[in-house]
Amino acid sequence: MMHTLVEPPREIPIADEVDVLVVGGGPAGIAAATAAARLGARTMLVERYGYLGGLASGGLVLVMCGVFDPQGERRIDGLFWEMMQRLGEVDGLAEESPTRLHVDSEWFKIVADELCIEAGVVLRLHSWAVDALVEGERVKGAIVESKSGRQAILARVCVDASGDGDVAARAGAAYDMRTMRIGLDFKVGGVDLAAYHAWRKAHPEQASALRDEVRAQGGCPLGAGATPYSDQGVYWVNVLGLANREGTAARQGLPGGVFAGELSALDVQDLTFAEVELRRQIAAGLDFYRRNVPGYRDVRLLAIASELGVRDSRRVRGVHPLTRTEIEEGVGFADVVGMTGAVYGGHPLQVPYRALVPETLEGLLVSGRCISVDDGLIHDMRVIPPCMLTGQAAGTAAALSLQAGVALRALDPARLRAQLAADGVLLP
Ligand SMILES: Cc1cc2nc3c(=O)[nH]c(=O)nc-3n(C[C@H](O)[C@H](O)[C@H](O)COP(=O)(O)OP(=O)(O)OC[C@H]3O[C@@H](n4cnc5c(N)ncnc54)[C@H](O)[C@@H]3O)c2cc1C
Repeated sequence: MMHTLVEPPREIPIADEVDVLVVGGGPAGIAAATAAARLGARTMLVERYGYLGGLASGGLVLVMCGVFDPQGERRIDGLFWEMMQRLGEVDGLAEESPTRLHVDSEWFKIVADELCIEAGVVLRLHSWAVDALVEGERVKGAIVESKSGRQAILARVCVDASGDGDVAARAGAAYDMRTMRIGLDFKVGGVDLAAYHAWRKAHPEQASALRDEVRAQGGCPLGAGATPYSDQGVYWVNVLGLANREGTAARQGLPGGVFAGELSALDVQDLTFAEVELRRQIAAGLDFYRRNVPGYRDVRLLAIASELGVRDSRRVRGVHPLTRTEIEEGVGFADVVGMTGAVYGGHPLQVPYRALVPETLEGLLVSGRCISVDDGLIHDMRVIPPCMLTGQAAGTAAALSLQAGVALRALDPARLRAQLAADGVLLP
């Protein structure tokens, strides 16, 4: 039996009162806060870590998926594309090909700061949102914990961009819980990729057995994702990750791909296990490559992600839960807030605003990977550029609803779409 105790009630300071409170400073939160602030809403962005970017910076997940359709046509513009352009102006973007863009994790943090600060966003880093403030059916802010203590932030609208839907869940929103494999990405230096490719060409069978072999030895394979410093042998490595708490990397195997995961992003012991086990597998992988793989003799570990690679957890049930069948059948929505490069049955993946509006509760929107989509769509919705797209839509809707003095769920979709189009969002 779980033992419990009752915390005594206590008074806590109200740290601030804002129009829009965005919780989570990852791709979705950066876009939500910037969009709301640019439309004149006094906006605060709360982030538990000391930097912005979420998995796209601290998580070392650095390739931007879902931007281009199979014909190579770019489908996402708006704040996502502005971010890419800004990264391109500094040392922050690696174009492996015209349709395969990798960002630099550290420049992503800096450019995200600039984007938010220029828009007038009040940043509050090092702050965990630990509870929601709710009166009746209305979300009125969040409680945050930080080195400054436990404090309340009152808000007219909250946007949950925490990835895990923390605020929505605390507020009582209905959600579906999912698990996928949890990874931990990292960066390496000292790789001679030309030498590796030459060896692979000369020894195709050995090269194709490599991944199985390294897994059999308890390590993770070392892919080579481009960085702006690839000419100096610097690459990032995307890690498939753990299925469960059992066994070695070999027994974790490949079957089921990312969907084979059983570890919960909401269970602190699962998270702790994943951190330690994945670091062990990274060390074993490096050792194996150093000893066995041409081109990797001088490989060095440069960084392990400071943020665990959680792919899926809560998906907050929306007014319109979006399904793959709808996209495949070409169902149109009057409130589409953007599309991605993913195509099903010849139709682009379009997102209706109502997938960001929780089934119940007023004063709350969700964005990023916790929006209301089914299992058939999550793989394409949870990637970084679509998360920025839904973040921009949520921030824009939050500001417009306050300007118009209407409930979030009553916002005129035509007004929302007109604003998004004016701000560069590509709409069907
Ligand atoms: C291993 C792995 C590989 C992937 N590969 C790719 C890929 O190749 N390409 C691609 O485009 N996408 C990829 N993805 C998906 C993508 O990285 C994420 O789904 C995407 O970053 C989600 O964006 P988000 O803003 O919703 O959440 P996140 O990026 O997770 O950001 C959420 C932010 O909220 C903060 N936060 C969370 N809870 C709280 C709280 N209670 N209070 C305050 N702050 C909080 C977090 O610190 C974080 O900064 C991958 C994901 C993983 C895990």
